Parts: sequence; structure tokens; C-alpha cells
Amino acid sequence: MKSDLTVAHPRPVILKTAGHLTSDGAGVKMRRMMGGVPELRMLDPFLMLDWFGSDNPDEYMGGFPDHPHRGFETVTYMLDGKIRHRDNTGREGVIEAGDVQWMTAGRGIIHSEMPERVEGRMRGFQLWVNLPARLKMTPPHYQEIVAANIPVEERTSARIKVIAGRTAGGVEGLVQAIAAEVSYFDVDLAPNALFSEPLRSSQAAFIVVFGGDLTIAGSKLTANPVTLAVLGPGNGLMLKAGNEGARFLLIAGTPFNEPVAWHGPFVMNHDAEIMQAFEDYNRGRF
Ligand code: MN
Repeated sequence: MKSDLTVAHPRPVILKTAGHLTSDGAGVKMRRMMGGVPELRMLDPFLMLDWFGSDNPDEYMGGFPDHPHRGFETVTYMLDGKIRHRDNTGREGVIEAGDVQWMTAGRGIIHSEMPERVEGRMRGFQLWVNLPARLKMTPPHYQEIVAANIPVEERTSARIKVIAGRTAGGVEGLVQAIAAEVSYFDVDLAPNALFSEPLRSSQAAFIVVFGGDLTIAGSKLTANPVTLAVLGPGNGLMLKAGNEGARFLLIAGTPFNEPVAWHGPFVMNHDAEIMQAFEDYNRGRF
């Protein structure tokens, strides 16, 4: 496997944030890294990113009782712990450690996401990916990839779990037909390892460091606290892990450049469509 990929114009870090501690659902404590936070309201085509990381069940067992979504996709990636989901079509399942659930809410679902009591620790991410106008009212569907089926690219000093998109080494994720052409990689680097990966210059891209630390063009990012870095213009990512190695998500996607009308769990293009979403929800049309 080719591991000496060079990047002519590496992307710099243009914004760094540890997000904000907040709570949502029935009192779940989390860190909102993107979405409605002043420094990063969204990063087209991405709307929101939450990080759940707790050793204390009291902080998360309330979970997320029934709530709707319309107009976008939710991507739940669990690292530790389990979440049981149920929706208004009767669909139900458990997202376990290492599993990914890519849910296209489309025209609308109502679901609950409730932690199951396990050893104590829960860690994971939920990303919201926007849908373009032509797909906002698509029928809802799920793509669920269990941990054992996530394709992995092994490099000399890197292990890349490919959740969506295709690496330069040719490993392709199993999640299909994502309008935003998303790459979603979970990268584990050995101490002091170098890592590079081309990224189309047309794509918005960010990384989230949740283990160890790393440096991108002189900018140091650590996992304590978990840190998100938005990457500026260029055609790829180049970075170096610190002495303890590094673990991070690399996420990129093609912007839609469409108007965004966003109210809570509904993300459409225009205010009238938000009003319609409330009306449809209140009249039981989801
Ligand atoms: Mn939800």
C-alpha cells in the first residue's frame, strides 16, 4: 500500500475549537463541536457535530426520547457504550461500540436514541450532514455498518477505518449514495507518525482529535479537550502525531451552496418549508 503520498498544497488549520459543554435530549451532557456554536455555526455541507464522552451514566442515561428530524442525515459513530434506537415505522436496533448508523431522515422520522446500561463509559460522535433541496423529502432510510464490517486501510504507522468515501490507497467505505460525497475516516496513528491524504480542493474538511495529539503546519491539536480543526484551502492533509500517537476523525464533503433554513430538528432551504415541517409533524404526517 502506497504510504508516501505527497500533498503539493497542504491545508492549514484556519479555526480550532473545543466546542461548548451543553446538554440535549433528557439532560445528556455533551460537547457540541459544530452547529449553533458562535465560532462554527455550520460548515456546508455539515450542520452539527456532537461529542459524547463520559464515564458517568448519570450524565447520559436520560438519552434522547422521541423527537423528529427532517431534511438531513444523522451519522452516529459509537466508540464505547450502546444506544438503542426506535422509530415511528417500528424499526429498532442497537448501535454498539465501533458501529456506524447513517440515517437519512429525508421527509421525516420520529425516533428515540437511548443508551443501554453497560460498563459505564460512553463515547461517540453524532454528525449531521445536510441534504440538497432535491433530496430533502426523500423517503427515510438507514445504512448500518457493524464494527467488524468497516473497511480498514493499514499503512506502516497508520490504521484508517473507512466509514464513508475512498482513501488515496483505494479503500472504500460501505456507506453509499451520500449527496455530499462525504469522506469519513477514523485514523489511528503511531507515535510521531507522519500522515498525508489528498482531499479535493472543492471540499470542506475538518478533523477532530480525540486521542493523543498532533501537529498540522505548526498548529498543535490535542485530545484533552477533544478539539475540532477546520482546514483551509489546499489539496490535502499533512500532519504529524505526537509522542503518544494520535487518533482523529477526518471528515470532508462537497458544499451544496444552497440557502439553509434551520429550526431545531428541521433543516430545509426556506422558512415556509420549516413552517410546513412543524405543521406536518403536529398533524402526525411524519
Ligand atoms: Mn435523533
